[in-house]
Amino acid sequence: MPMTTTRSDLERTTTNTSSIVTSTTRSTVSVTTTTTKKPMVAPTYEWQSHPQDFKLIAFGFDDLPTSAGNVQMVIDTLAKYEGFGTCFVLGENLEKAGPELLEYALQNGFEIGNHSYDHANLSKCSYEEIVSQVRRTNDIIERSVGVKPKWFRPPYLASNSTIRAACAANGWMHVVNGNKNSTTNTWYNVEDGGNVLRDAVNNAYDGAIYVMHPAREETALSMDEICKQLYDKGYRFCTMSQLFEYKGIEPQYSKTYHDVNE
Ligand SMILES: [Zn+2]
Repeated sequence: MPMTTTRSDLERTTTNTSSIVTSTTRSTVSVTTTTTKKPMVAPTYEWQSHPQDFKLIAFGFDDLPTSAGNVQMVIDTLAKYEGFGTCFVLGENLEKAGPELLEYALQNGFEIGNHSYDHANLSKCSYEEIVSQVRRTNDIIERSVGVKPKWFRPPYLASNSTIRAACAANGWMHVVNGNKNSTTNTWYNVEDGGNVLRDAVNNAYDGAIYVMHPAREETALSMDEICKQLYDKGYRFCTMSQLFEYKGIEPQYSKTYHDVNE
């Protein structure tokens, strides 16, 4: 990674972390605190002005908000390597945990996606149930952090034509799966007795979409080395929307995306 940006990245990270810790206090204190606070502006990095010169990976972090310490670690790690990712949110988890973790993600330039309300297997649900799960979660996300998700990752990566139709008909969002090579899904990975670091690095390719579960300690702890090795191989890390934008591809509602090319 470039030595020149390390220090400022670390400083920015520290500032953001402390703002999370004090957020409860902030909401009860008045104007004086607010005026001393810097405006929340997501970072931008030099590579974003010429993304075509790099290989791109869109990391997606599932089942959020959960395991706040691990997720903060992952966000800070991506910031350290000049990158972003996408948080796939369960409506139920967001209702329980509150908005702080997602606000921290947004401050760091992350994108928020939808991952259903309660992690039901939607491939076994009716059209109406699917619509209800996705709409309910969209509403909770919008109410909590003020953004409208554009991407939906079905629980268990169980996608089908009914799910795609429900998402398309409502004009909401595009369905996203995981890397074609399932070993980069860190959930399968642990069941296979695999190694997150090795698989994430060995199975990388330009335009890949990853499924990561930061609730898993091994995944959170491996992110720094994963990012370091991929960064050194010429990869940069972006959100789902940035991946398609930077590749000049308009996502289609008829598809389930395993990577930027489908
Ligand atoms: Zn999940």
